[in-house]
Amino acid sequence: MRSNKTAAYYTLGCKLNFAESSTIARDLESLGFGKVGFDQPADLYVINTCSVTDNADKKCRNIVRKALNNNPDGYVVVVGCYAQLKPEEIANIQGVDLVLGAKEKFNISNFIEELDKKEQAEIHRDKIRNTNEFVASWSAGGRTRSFLKVQDGCDYFCSFCTIPIARGKSRSAEISDIVKNAKTIVEEGIHEIVITGVNIGDFKNKKGEDFFQLIQQLEKVEGIARYRISSIEPNLLSEEIIDFVAGSEKFMPHFHIPLQSGSDELLKSMRRKYDTTLYESRVAYIKKAMPHSCIGVDVIVGYPGETEEEFQKTYDFLLGMDVSYLHVFTYSERNNTLAKRMDGIVPIAERKLRSKKLRILSLKKQRQFYQSHIDTDQVVLFEEKQDEGMIEGYTENYIRVVCQYDEALVNKVVPVELKKINGDGLMDVVITSKCLSD
Ligand code: SF4
Repeated sequence: MRSNKTAAYYTLGCKLNFAESSTIARDLESLGFGKVGFDQPADLYVINTCSVTDNADKKCRNIVRKALNNNPDGYVVVVGCYAQLKPEEIANIQGVDLVLGAKEKFNISNFIEELDKKEQAEIHRDKIRNTNEFVASWSAGGRTRSFLKVQDGCDYFCSFCTIPIARGKSRSAEISDIVKNAKTIVEEGIHEIVITGVNIGDFKNKKGEDFFQLIQQLEKVEGIARYRISSIEPNLLSEEIIDFVAGSEKFMPHFHIPLQSGSDELLKSMRRKYDTTLYESRVAYIKKAMPHSCIGVDVIVGYPGETEEEFQKTYDFLLGMDVSYLHVFTYSERNNTLAKRMDGIVPIAERKLRSKKLRILSLKKQRQFYQSHIDTDQVVLFEEKQDEGMIEGYTENYIRVVCQYDEALVNKVVPVELKKINGDGLMDVVITSKCLSD
């Protein structure tokens, strides 16, 4: 199938979805579908959905409407976790022509022939539960950063999560294939790779290779300036991995470690595989090995059974922890999860209030972390975007910095001195010497 048509993409959700959308776009481009922005008229619109998003059906409906405003004859395909979980719901959204499941989304071209709009959307969705198929993916939205998928699916079945049903069991790529993709990313001129998956610490492929072996091999890839580990379960973040990152030139001192609750009772109810003591020890070990490292934390508020007292435990635990920012999720019920059948439902208004409290705590934590770095020398990878004459980037330990735009800084790793936190909460910097990388 060869075409001279256009396609536009919209991605909801996580880094993994972004990596996969890019791969779908590259495949369709090789078939002649020129990529255009989602606000442009296109022959084909691909919407990659997420099951974690609140009001997923409402969001999907709005995005479909947006697409059809740009081209009422545009052919609309909906894929992703939500499409795998609720294909009928999506098929009933007016304007949708095709719904593809988790496996089928990588073969869109097999399902589209004429791009004639349909009265009723077609659904192609196979069961994903027992699949061993792994489709390698990486994103290249800009030149600075790429999300590289190394693992898919999850075997954990936490009580609140639908990802294992939407994406199937845990499976991983072969290290040699990942290294090959990393080299392709380097050839594209991209300097930072974010290692991405559903549960990347659980990386284990058919050859028996594990996550530690993966990062050791990635370190050897020439020409890449930076790796970040996207998010890793505390029970899988071993001292071996932390020591390796501490000694690595390329793996950044930045961890994102889901906590979800600071109450051991709730962690048990969530079916998480650690307690607060283990979590605390991970953070302490990281901070000892890398005092300036950045640690981000995922936390859920309003989970069933989270009394005022249990919430306070989470708040106090995080208050006392040397972490740099929080990602706060407000619990919402999902079909086919254990948590949905649990007692102790927290009223929505209370969930929102708790979420606000933790978001304020997060801002405080981040400010403290930034403040402790003022007047220090750091290294920044500047990005491409110019915004009102300014350019932004991240330090190795994930401090968001800004300075006067200079074309010579674009996509370069540059030594800077951190000066002060500005009104937007970003760190003003001065350049201290010329560029380190091209
Ligand atoms: S570890 Fe738990 S929360 Fe994360 S994807 Fe697996 S089941 Fe979901």
